[in-house]
Amino acid sequence: MSAHIGVTGLAVMGANLARNLARNGFTVALHNRSVEKTDALLEKHGTDGDFVRTETLQDLVDSLEKPRRVLIMVKAGKPVDSVIEQLEPLLEAGDIIIDAGNSHYEDTRRREAALAKKDLHFVGIGVSGGEEGALNGPSIMPGGSKESYDALGPLLEKISAHVDGKPCCAWIGTDGAGHFVKMVHNGIEYADMQVIGEAFDLLRSGAGIEPADQAKIFEEWNKGELASFLIEISAEVLGHVDTRTGKPFVDVVVDAAGQKGTGRWTVISALELGSPTSGIAESVFARALSSQSEQRKIAQELLAGEEIAVDVPDTFVEDVRQALYASKLVSYAQGLDMLTSAAKEYGWDLKLDEIASLWRGGCIIRAELLKEITNAYAAEDKPANLLFAPAFTKAIADVLPAWRRVVSTAVQLGIPVPVFSSSLAYYDGLRRKRLPAAVIQGQRDLFGAHTYGRVDAEGTFHTLWGEDKSEIEAVDTH
Ligand code: NDP
Repeated sequence: MSAHIGVTGLAVMGANLARNLARNGFTVALHNRSVEKTDALLEKHGTDGDFVRTETLQDLVDSLEKPRRVLIMVKAGKPVDSVIEQLEPLLEAGDIIIDAGNSHYEDTRRREAALAKKDLHFVGIGVSGGEEGALNGPSIMPGGSKESYDALGPLLEKISAHVDGKPCCAWIGTDGAGHFVKMVHNGIEYADMQVIGEAFDLLRSGAGIEPADQAKIFEEWNKGELASFLIEISAEVLGHVDTRTGKPFVDVVVDAAGQKGTGRWTVISALELGSPTSGIAESVFARALSSQSEQRKIAQELLAGEEIAVDVPDTFVEDVRQALYASKLVSYAQGLDMLTSAAKEYGWDLKLDEIASLWRGGCIIRAELLKEITNAYAAEDKPANLLFAPAFTKAIADVLPAWRRVVSTAVQLGIPVPVFSSSLAYYDGLRRKRLPAAVIQGQRDLFGAHTYGRVDAEGTFHTLWGEDKSEIEAVDTH
């Protein structure tokens, strides 16, 4: 019996994807560098479906129907290159190598280009949803050639999460597009988590609401427009009582947030693209600041914190909810705008409605909001920015007063709200008629003759600052 697909790398993610494939009726050939993991999987879950046990990559390749599909799920980085190197001579033209790990999209672009020269398809797939998603239905973001998706898509769509009967999987675009979109997904996830953290801090420090009571508030929020996986699990985390001390769980956990790097990748890429992704950047920096424990200790003793007494309004909880919604929306708008910039840079035809739709299930940022985001980009008249879609223009207008109240209250009370406030600055920056960028252009022209444009004339100009300050037409030296 030929297997439909082979999986090499059977740690938790590979094993769960293999089981998910088998449970969906596909015959899966199994391989792992050390055979123990293969045998452990077969022993524990061999009854999940049809598996073919193999010990070598040659056996794995020999067990597959053509075109062969080999899914690599090993540690990201060098191990992926090493497995590709070993697989490549065993495969023939038209076969498909799939990397479903958390690879950087530039690595995927490099690998795809190298393998395309050998007539092999290389498909970088972003998989979101963690271990549980891999087993029961993740959100899947495949890149690579359209041709490879024709051979691979049906399998992936079957094992993905489904929302309203639609698979949370669609072809994203060529080469590294899938891994890029997964990376931005993770960036949005960072911002989504940070704004929830900021809401918690505001409710606790601004309104004195204890975690257990906040859990109830979050449960309520989860019934409305904020309904999402992250709000749901935050309610659970906030309501949890430490079994050792009886204190709220969030009071006994060290307040230094870890990170594995995909948020940082998103910000680096945003900087390279010149894409104003401030919400994601602030959330990555907020985690970094939280981890500077030594400096934080000194600062608590040393730095003044004069707060300004403010009356926290009765509407504060609802204000915070509305500010959270607005800030979250801006993070999505920025992430999606970054995708638009990347599509131009890399020649991808990214369909933002399909991307928003496949984030609706299986992944960490799944949220009710994504349904409306999908609709916004499915419209005939696609918005240049999510905030320009009529539904969202109105939604933000409705919550703007609360958003401003919350940010100013936070500033006066000394509660740091980097994403709430930077999202508001982004919003105001976008809509402002004149930005102080004109002053920066003046400075640049004065110290570096970098030239400037005029509001009332075509062309590029330079002022002779060191001479008589007259203006000359200049060649743009940017
Ligand atoms: P790990 O990242 O822990 O990697 C372990 C696997 O890689 C083992 O099968 C190991 O084989 C294999 N391996 C390591 N080095 C080599 C090598 N040089 N040659 C061949 N095989 C090698 O496994 P996970 O299942 O946790 O993650 C797999 C991928 O999925 C990673 O890219 C990870 O970032 C990503 N991931 C994604 C998540 C998501 O939510 N999408 C969540 C978790 C992970 P051996 O048993 O022989 O050591």
